[in-house]
Amino acid sequence: MCDACKELDEIISHYQRLSAFPFDPLTAKRIIGVVADLQQKRDAMHPIVLPSLKLSR
Ligand SMILES: [Zn+2]
Repeated sequence: MCDACKELDEIISHYQRLSAFPFDPLTAKRIIGVVADLQQKRDAMHPIVLPSLKLSR
């Protein structure tokens, strides 16, 4: 993991904490979308070290 990943991870966990709050469905959906987007970005940086990819092997 590099600094860029750590930063993305922090943002992701921030949004994940946010998503625990009872927002209206539209806001919750948007937060989930942002998290998925950030995870995708992080995954694109290090495709090999991803646990999800390791599992599929
Ligand atoms: Zn990294």
